[in-house]
Amino acid sequence: MRLNNSRKSRNIEDRRGQRMNIGGRGGKIGLGTIVLALVAMYFGVDPSIVLQNVGGPVVTETRTQPPAATPESEFVSKVLADTEDAWAGIFQQKGWGAYQEPRLVLFNGATPTACGTGQSAMGPFYCPADRKVYLDLGFFQQMAQELNSPGDFAQAYVVAHEVAHHVQNLLGVMEQVDQLRRGASTTAANQLSVRVELQADCFSGVWANHSDSQRNTLEPGDIEEGLNAASAIGDDALQKRSQGYVVPDSFTHGTSAQRVRWFKRGFDSGDPAQCDTFGASSL
Ligand SMILES: [Zn+2]
Repeated sequence: MRLNNSRKSRNIEDRRGQRMNIGGRGGKIGLGTIVLALVAMYFGVDPSIVLQNVGGPVVTETRTQPPAATPESEFVSKVLADTEDAWAGIFQQKGWGAYQEPRLVLFNGATPTACGTGQSAMGPFYCPADRKVYLDLGFFQQMAQELNSPGDFAQAYVVAHEVAHHVQNLLGVMEQVDQLRRGASTTAANQLSVRVELQADCFSGVWANHSDSQRNTLEPGDIEEGLNAASAIGDDALQKRSQGYVVPDSFTHGTSAQRVRWFKRGFDSGDPAQCDTFGASSL
């Protein structure tokens, strides 16, 4: 991506280097949260839902040292700023009112969120209750090394996907889906989650379209990097890696092919109206 001369976002909350001390429950945090985090990771359960159901541990923060900007944190800040510009324009164009920007928290290990304790093992996530994206930059290394998805645009896609969940929150999609999920069977609830995730992928494509057409940010190979990442983090690919077989009913993010298809659809059209995964008869 070409972001060298881009502005940085004011919405980064850098908690790297902060240590989270957990007390009040005799150190009981560990197992439950970690197991849930792993479940969230491997089975694609929306971590914010999981965490809402956990009686969170008592958490205090201690700042150990002010975080220093690194090339990775600067890059994330520029990508976030680019999503702000893109979505502000789209909201204006669509008459959706002013775009309210999300904040992005950089953290290491674990951090308190309005959705419970955020853990690096869950991967990046968005918490609708505090409108913040949570990201441990170590995930980028994991993507490059374990998920075979290197590249700056692959990283930007991850940020854009989480921001897309924020857009869904602003548009009321998350609230509607949460209501539909209540009382639904696990299979039906998972199918709803898939539609939420594929719409976020489509919105990520919409962002990439606007970013490039307005600021000429894409370089040759960038879209391929994004598509490769979308494919590598599809539920079927992740499940095969973790358990050696796939269980379609437990899919909550969509298959690799579906993720690629919806990202492309958003990118080719640049129009969020093309991202109606809820009305689509086939995904
Ligand atoms: Zn997602």
